[in-house]
Amino acid sequence: MTSTETSIETTTKSSIKTLCPYCGVGCGLEVLGETGDALPANSSNWKVRGDRTHPSNVGMVCVKGATIAESLDKNRLLYPMFRESLDQPFQRVSWEEALEKICDRIRLVQQEQGVDSICMYGSGQLQTEDYYVAQKLLKGCLGTNNFDSNSRLCMSSAVSGYLRSLGSDGPPCCYEDLDLTDCAFLIGTNTADCHPIVFNRLRKHHKQDAQMKLIVVDPRRTATAEVADLHLPINPGTDIDLLNGIAYLLWQGGKIDQEFIASHTNNSSAFIELLQHYPPEKVAQICGIPQADLELAAQYWGESARVLSLWSMGVNQSSEGTAKVNSIINLHLLTGTIGKPGCGPFSLTGQPNAMGGRESGGLSKLLPGYRLVSDPQHRQEVEEFWGVPAGRISAQPGRTAWEIIMGLETDEVGLLWIVATNPAVSMPDLARTKKALERSPFTIYQDAYHPTETTQYAHLLLPAAQWGEKTGTMTNSERYVTLCAAFQQPPGEARADWEIFADVGRRLGFTELLPFQNAEAIHTEYVQSTKDRVCDQTGISYEKLKISPRQWPLSASSSLRYPLGKDSQARLYTDWKFPTPNGRANFIPHHSRGLAEPIDGDYPFILTVGRLYGHWHTQTRTGRIEKIRKMHPEPFLEIHPRDAEKLGIVQGELVEVYSRRGRAQFPVLVTRAIAPGTVFAPLHWGSLWADNAEANALTHAISCPDSLQPELKACAVQIKKVDFERVL
Ligand code: SF4
Repeated sequence: MTSTETSIETTTKSSIKTLCPYCGVGCGLEVLGETGDALPANSSNWKVRGDRTHPSNVGMVCVKGATIAESLDKNRLLYPMFRESLDQPFQRVSWEEALEKICDRIRLVQQEQGVDSICMYGSGQLQTEDYYVAQKLLKGCLGTNNFDSNSRLCMSSAVSGYLRSLGSDGPPCCYEDLDLTDCAFLIGTNTADCHPIVFNRLRKHHKQDAQMKLIVVDPRRTATAEVADLHLPINPGTDIDLLNGIAYLLWQGGKIDQEFIASHTNNSSAFIELLQHYPPEKVAQICGIPQADLELAAQYWGESARVLSLWSMGVNQSSEGTAKVNSIINLHLLTGTIGKPGCGPFSLTGQPNAMGGRESGGLSKLLPGYRLVSDPQHRQEVEEFWGVPAGRISAQPGRTAWEIIMGLETDEVGLLWIVATNPAVSMPDLARTKKALERSPFTIYQDAYHPTETTQYAHLLLPAAQWGEKTGTMTNSERYVTLCAAFQQPPGEARADWEIFADVGRRLGFTELLPFQNAEAIHTEYVQSTKDRVCDQTGISYEKLKISPRQWPLSASSSLRYPLGKDSQARLYTDWKFPTPNGRANFIPHHSRGLAEPIDGDYPFILTVGRLYGHWHTQTRTGRIEKIRKMHPEPFLEIHPRDAEKLGIVQGELVEVYSRRGRAQFPVLVTRAIAPGTVFAPLHWGSLWADNAEANALTHAISCPDSLQPELKACAVQIKKVDFERVL
């Protein structure tokens, strides 16, 4: 094993500035010892607070960020461990043995099944340097595009939507727009619980400016909807109807920006033609809302010079996720509300570095610098940049997350390498997912924690360093890149993820392509791959990031002009020139296809799933934090009183929920916060944390045809009483 930078010294500083490793808001954190002396070795003695100098959160922090230190030393995977088959116990092995086993297996699979039988499934928890080395190993060294990440389940519809409408990925807005907008239109996002610091900032502006309007579109009356000026609890799956209905009213009322449309867009007449099908009486009826509320939403849009749309998984996790994103952007193109302060279509990313993954080629259709594997020029540019032979990068997009599962089912996947994610809880259709994982001939599971629900499906466990134990960068939703420096020794033999990928690559003979001895060397190479792209980061360096986070685009030439100050561009497309062939943004008209799995007599309820304020994903970290466990002690199913009465169930009673794929049990929470006919369950409880309470046992994998993101947000279910009662 080559020793690189994982062998850091414990810091002698009394405080460290870094980034919260949970959500895509990307709050700066400050880690301090109790006494002001050097940080103690034991993380349970650290205090964590918001970094007042970080531009994204200016000192604010939610419960997850504030308690991060409490999760670091619990249930850590300390050594590589191996077993020949899933029915055997794990035995400790050396790194040398572990890495040789991986290399032997890669060679074997390459020889017997071909390189496209090798798959890696990564995570938005990875730092950009990890992402860059992993996808370079797969795409540039081995020659397969089978590197996907759990961001596929989170925001790939936002990527596809931006690409199709604007010509490139990349949220065009920034958090300052939260302070400046006249009207915030939140659709498919429970921002108060899932992106709390973004919401705090928006709410502060909302309270201070009596004229500002807050519209929330959500079938649930969430904490976000609770404070809205207008809550539209639309029927699940009717988002596109609503968006087209608002566009119809704006167009009919003359509240559109003719000059912007004429000078800066394509395809407006096709969109206007589509709108003829969306008169308000029809839309209100489809969406299940009063017509007056629909008209009020259009009125708020039309009266506001600066409209900011925010969305997250409620839009993206859909079999028509890309079409929903296009329909949101259509509204901004219709009203010219893009590329200006307080305006624009702003997707909120779920994970801390989903953005960095997008920038560095972290999905199976992407290459670094917002390039596509399907574009011959992009492949050529990256091949030349890496110095690999022409044709090394495959023209075929690799397997997506769900296609990896299908490949296991058909024995087309011979090696699966899972990194920093927990698919045995987070994938849709869990019974099918688990069965496929059981078939895997060789699964490597690289993570900081053990056990997780996925370790039982692994042959080889690799201990990974995590937050505070490795150096790297992350990009948040507003394009700020923050340096997360290592300040703590990893436990046991844990190593940085990128080190493991690079070590395997070098053992396979790719020494020249993966020469990296530290994270900074990777970053230096990576930023050059973004040169002259929308996400240009050539002006960002570790040297600068040590002083403050930097927002892209930031080219080397702009940083020469402004060496250390505010030298980047807060908003994209301020000149209304878009990275499309003719420089204009595209109207993309869509009719809705509705839900992939509508209700019927056998399955008469729509289940929607989501996150809670305190927990993070599958509880790998937050499940071990006392304060958060008390906040959210157990799973539940929200149901409207009318439906509860019909089924004869009462508050706290345990019910069984069935879908066509599986079943789960939850105590019910009878509440008017959920619309009749819809039920809600949180997604955080896997088999380690509760019996039969996995929301994804019920969900399906039918995906958006453009983004290939599964429709995790809605499936048809049946609910039945079970024969004993519990109290919540
Ligand atoms: Fe961390 Fe997100 Fe909370 Fe900020 S809002 S502290 S990034 S979990």
